[in-house]
Amino acid sequence: MRGTHLVPRIFSFYLGPRRELFLGQALLLLNNSSYCRDLFAENPQTTCFEAADITLATFQQLYHWISFDDPRQIAQDVAFRGLTRSAFAVQEMLKVCIAAWKLKCNAIEDLLIGLLGIGYFRSGLSPSAEDIDLVFKETLGFDPVSRLCHYMSVSFNIRMMDWQNQPPEFLDVLTVARKHSKIQTDFFYMIGEAALKDGRIQKPRELMDYTICDFHTHSAGTGCWAAQHTFASHPFLG
Ligand SMILES: [Zn+2]
Repeated sequence: MRGTHLVPRIFSFYLGPRRELFLGQALLLLNNSSYCRDLFAENPQTTCFEAADITLATFQQLYHWISFDDPRQIAQDVAFRGLTRSAFAVQEMLKVCIAAWKLKCNAIEDLLIGLLGIGYFRSGLSPSAEDIDLVFKETLGFDPVSRLCHYMSVSFNIRMMDWQNQPPEFLDVLTVARKHSKIQTDFFYMIGEAALKDGRIQKPRELMDYTICDFHTHSAGTGCWAAQHTFASHPFLG
């Protein structure tokens, strides 16, 4: 970035409702978060940021991964610590992913959604009612819609098409879905899309037919490494 000699060394982040302080390297944050970049460009005196809806623990994890500066290492860390293999860990991953979305850390948000998707695919956990609720509560109502929100909606709707074969817990997911209108809108859209194919209602695409890139923050077909990869063929966790 231009004029980096004018950038202060440290940014202060006040996090969560108790405004806990986190000090991070300004350059690292400017290079990774367009939220910080925009605020700083608007007012170069800015060295303090507030994020009442991100906890210190979540921010620390996000910052830790940003400082790796290497998607492969982040993927290895996620795999090594089993962060997509238990319901509790997935919730923590989701919170970091949501924080990345809020702070517009696009590269890491894109990476995390790929890792989450592959985790769900391999563990068979599926997005749970809690997962869907967390994502929709935190990210719905903003434009553009978060890709994580889109992912949750697509996963739910694919399960919905096969509702007779879902486990009893699916009822909880249904209850959550009824609260969030985006899921219903997408459902009709997906049925419509499937019906258009040959004039009959067909099962919509399976999640595995989507590429990871379908859930990325950038617009489609911009030479992304994941343009050909699905959640079943993620190269970092191969
Ligand atoms: Zn992409």
